[in-house]
Amino acid sequence: MNPYTLPLHVLRSMMFRNFRLIKAIGRLPSQRTVVLNYHSVRPNGLLFNSTPADVFEQHLAWLVAHCEVVDFLEVLEPHASDRPRVALVFDDGFLDNLQYAVPLLKKYGLKATFFISTGFLRRDPVILDIFARTFQTTAEDFMDTESLLELFAAGMPVGAHTHTHRNLRSLPPPEQEEELRLSKEILEETLGVPINTMAYPYGVPGKAFDLTTCSIAKKLGYAQAGSVSWRGLRPQDSPLRIPRITVVRETKLELEAMVYGALDPIGHFQEWRFARQQRNWQVYAYALLEGEYWRLAESSWLLGMA
Ligand SMILES: [Zn+2]
Repeated sequence: MNPYTLPLHVLRSMMFRNFRLIKAIGRLPSQRTVVLNYHSVRPNGLLFNSTPADVFEQHLAWLVAHCEVVDFLEVLEPHASDRPRVALVFDDGFLDNLQYAVPLLKKYGLKATFFISTGFLRRDPVILDIFARTFQTTAEDFMDTESLLELFAAGMPVGAHTHTHRNLRSLPPPEQEEELRLSKEILEETLGVPINTMAYPYGVPGKAFDLTTCSIAKKLGYAQAGSVSWRGLRPQDSPLRIPRITVVRETKLELEAMVYGALDPIGHFQEWRFARQQRNWQVYAYALLEGEYWRLAESSWLLGMA
């Protein structure tokens, strides 16, 4: 899914524009953990969600200088640094990840977790067709088994991203289970290690998955699963719904704004909508108790004033 629907894009730019003011007032929490979610990285940045390689390198340079970059599996551990903590993840399994992202990650001594849709490895027509129709990609845009082994040998952790990249919420639970089980099994067979992380395709809570999907993921032995929710982590976040912020071609200032929480009000709105839809008042009460509600109200007030 392209997250850049127009209203969200406008809202996002507004948040970025007001970031200098919010930061100047000095109310942003310093101890933050965020997960930044990339897709494709290539020199011309031509695909719908491609990060141009030079922009990606600027991001890495900024992250190394200002943040502590950690593994996806470490994001819920207690925060021991006074710098923002950031985990880098990639979705889908684009071949350009191996060609451009991995060399840059190695240059900066960093790791990222790659969530792979295993249908690409098998050249499954279902997934190739979904991507070709929606994003005008071809089979050659994605890693095959050999490329994935090369990426894994370069020391990059791998997680699952279902087999055919269909919207899980649109599938009955047995089919959801099959998607999560098969992708885990193929990756475990291919790489010879247990696969205990995954990311939900399209990722938006309540739209792309629900609490039933989370319990299936838990039953199958996934320890952590990533959603798409544009906010930083809270210590009490469910490991099966780790919020991740989509990154495409943001400037360094915009990246900084994301890390420090300029988009969090959007993420909290997504969380609130999810809690209401799932009638899960525990999710909602947590948000209130943690004071996030007030931080949200405060940010909205500041944005309104700017
Ligand atoms: Zn995806």
